[in-house]
Amino acid sequence: MTGKGTICVAGDADRQTGAVNQPLHLSSTFRLTESAYRAIAEGRGREASVYTRWGNPTVGAFEQKMARLEGGEEAVAFSSGMAAIAAVMLSHLRPGDELVTTRELYGGTYSFLEKELKRLDIRVRYADCTSPRDIASAITPQTRLLFFESLTNPLLRVVDIPAVAEAARQHGVPLAVDATFVSPVNQNPLSLGADLVVHSASKYLGGHSDLIAGVTAGTRDACREMWQRMTHHGGCMDPFQAWLLLRSLKTLHLRIQRHNQNALAVARFLEQHHRVAEVWYPGLESHPQHHLARHVLQGYGGMVTFRIDGTDRDGLAFMRRLQVATEATSLGGVETLVSMPFNTSHSYLSPEEREAIGIGPGTVRLSVGVEDVEDLLADLRQALDSL
Ligand code: PLP
Repeated sequence: MTGKGTICVAGDADRQTGAVNQPLHLSSTFRLTESAYRAIAEGRGREASVYTRWGNPTVGAFEQKMARLEGGEEAVAFSSGMAAIAAVMLSHLRPGDELVTTRELYGGTYSFLEKELKRLDIRVRYADCTSPRDIASAITPQTRLLFFESLTNPLLRVVDIPAVAEAARQHGVPLAVDATFVSPVNQNPLSLGADLVVHSASKYLGGHSDLIAGVTAGTRDACREMWQRMTHHGGCMDPFQAWLLLRSLKTLHLRIQRHNQNALAVARFLEQHHRVAEVWYPGLESHPQHHLARHVLQGYGGMVTFRIDGTDRDGLAFMRRLQVATEATSLGGVETLVSMPFNTSHSYLSPEEREAIGIGPGTVRLSVGVEDVEDLLADLRQALDSL
């Protein structure tokens, strides 16, 4: 069995030239050959180099690496995480069908369900993502897809993928998992029983906050369906993004190790600071699902959420005193980012609605980077002490 670090690094060499890195094929179209014409006639335009929206060698190399990293038969690359999520949804759901999911989703996904799926007369049933029983009881004969995030945003609740996958199997419904927060280094949802995994590659896979991209992996049949959606909706990955991603993946295992270490140290530090009321991090023994996290995660990730003992205004003051961390939305880059859900990801909820799902005043979300941890802790300490 090949380790993930080896998969991250290997396999990009170009057979033709001997270059150790995958060449960047910045070409929208390719010379037509007899075999290309045959591929077009047989609907295999993705396999032959014909036209980049259908397939491109650099994008294909990224897809192959992602399929290996996730343990899927194939992968499909997209222009963004949202394009990937839309393809997953629209490959499985038709008017009259139902989706079972949870309200604890990335805001863009939630908005897609509420605004796009409902327009298509697709019903969305929301369940408690921490209760496989609640999820199972939301499944009806019309359910065609289950969709969850491995770790939820911002409170880092852990979804019991093996239990949810078992419920899905019993009802003959596929389970798709958005594993953006965990990355393929910390979890492989397919090996835990999920049918499809999807990522916003804009986060840990890209890792440098310099690109927008998405990817899904799963069976050959499922990928063919999603590729078909992608060619119709148009959200194909640009070859340059694929090339940047191939370069980023070479260090994914190293970056994730460091994110995991730094985030655990940050979470432990925050837990004992007198201005911090609560800390959510699946690697802390105090996390209500720590035992489940140990079972389903190989690392606890770089995201840490905490609540300052104070108001949202105190949270803003805290963020603005930070000197190492940058106040910005998004996550998964090498640099530490800090934001507050109330005016970013969860601004569409009222303060009461936020409280109801556990996001109290002063809640701050950290995407812990790979800087020297002593500098991160000193920065957090000076900002908290000065409140
Ligand atoms: N899924 C999760 C968990 C996310 O956090 C995001 C973006 O923040 C997305 C999907 C959407 O990805 P993108 O911004 O690449 O479209």
